[in-house]
Amino acid sequence: MSDVAIIGGGIVGCACAYELAKAGAQVTLVEYGKAGMQATNAAAGMLAPFSESHAPDAMLRLGQRAMADYPGDVAALEAECGFAIELQQYGILRVALDDGGAETLRRRHAWQRGLGIPLEWLDGDACREVEPRLSGRVIAGLYSPAEASVNNQMLALALLRAAESRGARIVERTPVRRLRLRAGRVSAETGAGAIDADVIVLAAGARSGQLAASAGVGLPVRPIRGQMIALGGMRPPISRIVWGPRGYLVPRANGLVFAGATVEDVGFRRRTTASGLRTLRAAARALVPQLGAAQVQFDWAGLRPGTADGLPIIGPVAGTNLVAATGHYRNGILLGPVTGKIVAHGIATGDWRDVPAEFSPRRFGPRAAADA
Ligand SMILES: Cc1cc2nc3c(=O)[nH]c(=O)nc-3n(C[C@H](O)[C@H](O)[C@H](O)COP(=O)(O)OP(=O)(O)OC[C@H]3O[C@@H](n4cnc5c(N)ncnc54)[C@H](O)[C@@H]3O)c2cc1C
Repeated sequence: MSDVAIIGGGIVGCACAYELAKAGAQVTLVEYGKAGMQATNAAAGMLAPFSESHAPDAMLRLGQRAMADYPGDVAALEAECGFAIELQQYGILRVALDDGGAETLRRRHAWQRGLGIPLEWLDGDACREVEPRLSGRVIAGLYSPAEASVNNQMLALALLRAAESRGARIVERTPVRRLRLRAGRVSAETGAGAIDADVIVLAAGARSGQLAASAGVGLPVRPIRGQMIALGGMRPPISRIVWGPRGYLVPRANGLVFAGATVEDVGFRRRTTASGLRTLRAAARALVPQLGAAQVQFDWAGLRPGTADGLPIIGPVAGTNLVAATGHYRNGILLGPVTGKIVAHGIATGDWRDVPAEFSPRRFGPRAAADA
């Protein structure tokens, strides 16, 4: 098995490190700052393959595969690491506040039920039987019992620790300044020297596009900001994820309710804004009025790794030793662990056939490789 350098210690890089180390690769993970502290830390932790799906496509199938693996993977990691990852299999209740919203949910119900996805249609009163603190304005809902949430911070930490205990070398506070491509071989330049490996996995989240470009490789990943708030100071008024037209509420195992999230194309600015936070508070109150009295315990923002078509980029970059594992946009917590498995399998066997063409770096055309 080859030696592999992974750039980026978010959930995707950590999952790749874990799976590759498990498969016997010699792994070095290089992280700009501290592992798990960028988008992975900012996420709400939802595992929402159905609620995030818009069509019966490759993304839905990957999400289903990821979801099916989650309980077993979390149990194995918890046993290995000795701390809880807080998988909460309580389902997601999507709700509508008007006829237009109800119609959208009805269409989702129809096509997803047609695929055998477990979903329950509820009228407004039935929604309030499930979640008694919901607003009286809720007129309909779709309950999806197979969706869940996880403590994304603990999951990333568990993957990192498990990778380390299987021999992966974790190098933090070491920014990769640029990638260099020479004769089909990519190396990574850091302040502490160049990193060469049989395979370089690019898992640098929202920065992946910039790093790829530094080697003349076109991987169009761009940052999409998401702001969030943590509401507390009261007993959590909901017991499962509630998702409305302007945002979602995620009850976390520690009693806080995370309310999110904005979706903003503002470059690499990773700050919260007064208007963003106001919007989140208002959206939370509209779903569960009692949350109007909650205290904002903290707020934060993160940069999702977005792609032009909204799909992840997974697989080898033609004619190079670079493997892309990035662009997971709104679903990196759901898809991070399964991406680690796909990447490890591909590198170990050279067989990337189980990666749908929709996710391949090839879809962006021939790489503009400047052999510099
Ligand atoms: C507000 C918000 C809510 C979200 N909610 C959910 C959710 O509920 N469910 C879900 O599935 N997904 C969610 N997401 C999306 C999810 O967080 C991301 O898709 C996922 O974290 C991406 O993981 P990553 O490892 O690719 O990127 P990151 O976590 O950003 O990791 C990339 C790492 O690469 C490092 N890096 C960057 N440049 C360099 C360099 N030059 N050298 C070395 N290292 C470098 C960074 O420091 C970082 O640690 C949410 C995102 C946001 C912002």
